[in-house]
Amino acid sequence: MPEVSLVRRARKVDRVLADTYPDASIELNFDDPFQLLVVTVLSAQTTDQRVNSVSPTLFTAYPDAPALAAAEREDLERIIAPTGFFRAKTDSLLKLSQALVDRYDGQVPARLDDLVGLPGVGRKTANVVLGDGFGVPGITVDTHLGRLARRLGWTEESDPVKVERDVGELFPKRDWVQLNHHLIWHGRRICHARNPACGACPVARWCPSYGEGPTDPVKAAKLVRTAGRR
Ligand code: SF4
Repeated sequence: MPEVSLVRRARKVDRVLADTYPDASIELNFDDPFQLLVVTVLSAQTTDQRVNSVSPTLFTAYPDAPALAAAEREDLERIIAPTGFFRAKTDSLLKLSQALVDRYDGQVPARLDDLVGLPGVGRKTANVVLGDGFGVPGITVDTHLGRLARRLGWTEESDPVKVERDVGELFPKRDWVQLNHHLIWHGRRICHARNPACGACPVARWCPSYGEGPTDPVKAAKLVRTAGRR
């Protein structure tokens, strides 16, 4: 079990981040778990804004797994091309939607073990779908969450499964989904991989990595991003 002082500090950080980012939520647009699964696959190596720009056309053409599984490759490639790596992503979406049709009658399963058994679906994607698509708590260890958890001293691990365990122990399950959003938003806007804006960081006083980026408020303010980027 983690030390009480660490739990207190972590929860304080989350409360401050919740106040800082009251609108924190997933930045991908979707209407149902199927759409969420698809846009999460498409979001690899691109921005959420770019995915959001193609999703209305995509889901008008292919509203469900059977329709997507039956898509013509060239048509699908053309629609998702702005998201990059479109040949590989087309492959992934065709295999994924076919697996949903074959195994789950075209529905997205709501269990972690089932989701990670689908082609191209890793633990991170599965936890996004569970948390934001089904309201099932999970810690989504993407690049931002892993980096922030280490910087904040919540874990020393780099293996996502161990990070998930360590961070999960610090918070009640009911807080997990919003915690994901708070950390990811903070990672995208202030606590960047390179040059975190420490001098503009609202949780600096609880962060053992304070000073990893510029502490000068003027320099730090210039590093803060307002729009979400991956
Ligand atoms: S103080 Fe710096 S390293 Fe720590 S959370 Fe803030 S921006 Fe990130």
